Amino acid sequence: MAKTEVPDQSHQAKKRFGQNFLVDGNIINRIIRAVAPQSGQHLVEIGPGLGALTSHLIDKKCQLDVVEIDRDLAEKLRAQYGQANGFQLHLIDALKADFGSLTKPGAKLRIIGNLPYNISTPLLFHLLTFKEKIADMHFMLQREVVDRMGSPEGKKTYGRLSIMVQYHCHVEPLFVVPPSAFKPAPKVESAIVRLRPRARTIMAQDPAFFSRVVNVCFQQRRKTIRNGLKSILKELPEDCLSHIDLSRRPETFSVEEFVDIANALSALRRPGTE
Ligand code: SAM
Repeated sequence: MAKTEVPDQSHQAKKRFGQNFLVDGNIINRIIRAVAPQSGQHLVEIGPGLGALTSHLIDKKCQLDVVEIDRDLAEKLRAQYGQANGFQLHLIDALKADFGSLTKPGAKLRIIGNLPYNISTPLLFHLLTFKEKIADMHFMLQREVVDRMGSPEGKKTYGRLSIMVQYHCHVEPLFVVPPSAFKPAPKVESAIVRLRPRARTIMAQDPAFFSRVVNVCFQQRRKTIRNGLKSILKELPEDCLSHIDLSRRPETFSVEEFVDIANALSALRRPGTE
């Protein structure tokens, strides 16, 4: 039988900040076990809310920075944890936070967050701009988003999000969390995912162009990649991708193959073309 935490009754959950507070003690413990914080590490929690995860992170002898946008919650958090060793609260929009400025020499950041679903993808891409300074990230996201992130090629769930996230990170879906674990309960299932920034052996020479190539190909995922790339290929010699079977559909191409296509095309593009 799952232990239920009693949320702070004096706080009215705000929809605009995606506030669904974790109340299932078993799930909270599972998340903390998955993160396994060790003393001396530098943790950053995004959206601590009423402290369901924070209270378990605070006593691990870690540096713990928390980033919260809601002024009312920030006040409560400050009152409850403000005096704790290594605790630092930042009342700021995580989408605008300079996570790089939090790091200290020798310790990469470990990011944790039960994220508001409406900002989870832009926030992830914002965080990836600091990926050299991040050891790993554990997020609670919509299950469907985790399925897409971790999807191998060839599956229905494989697409732009899978490729862009897997290009930057190892993706490890951990476990599913039912709506009943939250108050108020969301309409959909959630899941915990672990992301570890990776160093790639084959890098996209022009990351913005790589993203554009993936984007145009998946605008028409049921068509061949030749069709998807039409707008780019018309500027280039016909045989520029002769080593690639252009009659395949985009969802059959691996991340590495997309990098290869983007690099081959970007080498041929005229300087200054978008
Ligand atoms: N961590 C708590 C828990 O598990 O019960 C709360 C999770 S709740 C789904 C999301 C939290 O993120 C809320 O505390 C909300 O105020 C905060 N939040 C929403 N948008 C944010 C933003 N742009 N920057 C920082 N925090 C944000």
